[in-house]
Amino acid sequence: MAEPTRCDILVRDALIATFDTEDSFLPDGAIAITGNRIVAVGPTDEVTSRFAADKTIRAAGLYAIPGLINSHNHSPLGVTRGLIEDSTVAPMYTRSVPQGHLLSAEESLALARLGHYELLRSGCTTVVDFYRQPATLAQAADEIGTRAVITGRIHDIDLDLLTEKRMVHRDAVGEETVQETLDLIAKWDGAAGGRITCEFGVHGTDTCSASLLRRVGDLAATHGGRIHLHLAHAKGEVAYVQERDGMTPTQLLADVGLLGQKLVAAHCVFIDGADRQRLGDAKVTVAHAPHQNAPAGNSAPIRELEAAGAQITLCTDARSGNLFEAMRLAIASWRLRNGGYEPNARRALSWAVDGAAKAFGWQDLGRIEAGCRADIVLLDRRDPNMAPIIDGYGILAYSANGSNVDTVIVDGKVRLAGKQPVGFDGQAVVRDAQAVAERLWLRCGQRRAITATSAILDAAH
Ligand SMILES: [Zn+2]
Repeated sequence: MAEPTRCDILVRDALIATFDTEDSFLPDGAIAITGNRIVAVGPTDEVTSRFAADKTIRAAGLYAIPGLINSHNHSPLGVTRGLIEDSTVAPMYTRSVPQGHLLSAEESLALARLGHYELLRSGCTTVVDFYRQPATLAQAADEIGTRAVITGRIHDIDLDLLTEKRMVHRDAVGEETVQETLDLIAKWDGAAGGRITCEFGVHGTDTCSASLLRRVGDLAATHGGRIHLHLAHAKGEVAYVQERDGMTPTQLLADVGLLGQKLVAAHCVFIDGADRQRLGDAKVTVAHAPHQNAPAGNSAPIRELEAAGAQITLCTDARSGNLFEAMRLAIASWRLRNGGYEPNARRALSWAVDGAAKAFGWQDLGRIEAGCRADIVLLDRRDPNMAPIIDGYGILAYSANGSNVDTVIVDGKVRLAGKQPVGFDGQAVVRDAQAVAERLWLRCGQRRAITATSAILDAAH
């Protein structure tokens, strides 16, 4: 018998959902990993006879799935967690909320570390993360170990005046935010062995003038990456663009040349039938944020967008980092709009797993298959909400939670084991973020560290 081949990591004895084209499940499976790639997947007996590993993860009682993909997020906005959800406050439009451009690099980094740690703990291995001070987001991804697409937040609206509800565009602001992205790309694009890439992110069609959107389109075409933005997330945005440019936000994007497969548009709530078709025809990727959409009294017309040809992905935006929760909210909001039993578990999962990878053109993510990158999550099926597993997709979409995540491997490296972070101090991350958040809210006018939402926002106004 031939000597077994050496590999770096061997996960064995796991239940595996491969998410391959046959939707294969392995009840007692093994995954061999060398470097950042999966080199073999199959029954444990078969794989262990072919491979011997430096590190073996005995995964009896664990359920292996591909790492989840979060298509739109702003990690430092975790500072608003639990504070703004019950109010009309939109952070960027509100003076009394800690603003991204007013954070120090140290403050932004502490909050970004918290966000990436939470995502990792919740089984999210890939995230599109964008905000001001994007270099701190990249650094957080580097340290915590997530796979990340990082972008800055480009706009030319004057933020001080925006919080007074005055819309004034300034070239200097546009220049500053464009330069921030160019600096980010120069330093971080392709970092951590390609685990971190950088692209262009613009805030939205109301906070960017048409000329700035054109400029970003040119820069992104030269760079070759995608463009991320918020689209039709509020009625006010649609009304303002209509007044300023005489067209809808979607028409404006078409007009400035941004409507295409490279566009990742979050929200897409307030769009009419013609715009849905425009987005579909252009094969735009929609980052669906069901949690964030709820207060608008509406949800994105995902069924219609998907039918028109748009590619649907899931995101948490500035809410909880738990994509399992977003999946259930996406299913519920679709059913509230349309009635019936669509979408099923498999379809909702695809928006955060294989379908998301496909939308982004990542051929080697979103599946547990030989040749794919080793981004793997092991859920603890000994937890009560993880039983019974009869339908391997149904349990994920309707019952799994981030808290079931036991082990996370990203790019062939174990980043979480036994729910504990590997290579960084998780408790220190949480402690530092708490201290920074308290400091920031005090700076915004809050009188004491822990109080009730309304008291904080009232005090701050
Ligand atoms: Zn957002």
